[in-house]
Amino acid sequence: MENHTIDTFEEEENEGYIKIDRYNKAKTVSISSHYTDILTQLGEDPQREGLLKTPERVAKALQFLTHGYDINPAEILRSAMFKEDYSQMVVVKDIEVYSMCEHHMLPFFGKAHVAYIPNGHIVGLSKIPRVVDAFARRLQVQERLTNEIRDCIQETLEPAGVAVVIECQHLCMAMRGIQKQNSVTTTSAFTGEFAKDKTRAEFLRLITARLH
Ligand SMILES: [Zn+2]
Repeated sequence: MENHTIDTFEEEENEGYIKIDRYNKAKTVSISSHYTDILTQLGEDPQREGLLKTPERVAKALQFLTHGYDINPAEILRSAMFKEDYSQMVVVKDIEVYSMCEHHMLPFFGKAHVAYIPNGHIVGLSKIPRVVDAFARRLQVQERLTNEIRDCIQETLEPAGVAVVIECQHLCMAMRGIQKQNSVTTTSAFTGEFAKDKTRAEFLRLITARLH
């Protein structure tokens, strides 16, 4: 998406940790001005000290939270695919997920568990969480996020099967409307071998087992 070009790179060092922010300057200015309006509409005074830099901070935060639009997840996988005979299930579990629901632009977050059964190729394990992140850092619904991760791995790696389970809490549910504070939404998507009960059961056993 060409309108998501990042042309500014900013590093900020804060007491020991380094925070890296990447954002588009023109977009930051534009989004900020809208947020100044929004603060006024909400009955706030955008000129009060605590809010002076808020529109700019929100503009940068939103760009960070949606930076997945700039990432090509299939490319991430292709960058680390290796020929290998291994044909047992590979499971990467407890991958942290931070995303934003597209209906309310409020966060949902939790964990993703991903598995695949190699069919000639394996992929560097660190790439799976990066694929999850690339799709999560966009405006999403949990159902589509789950399917997009599955389809990307299936189409790029062409394994014998892919399984994705995501468990998330949605702040749009917890903070407004029905206040079911601790409810967790679970979604799942499978291809190939995982259509078989036995294989799927094995995957579910592996992601629920506490091996460590
Ligand atoms: Zn929502």
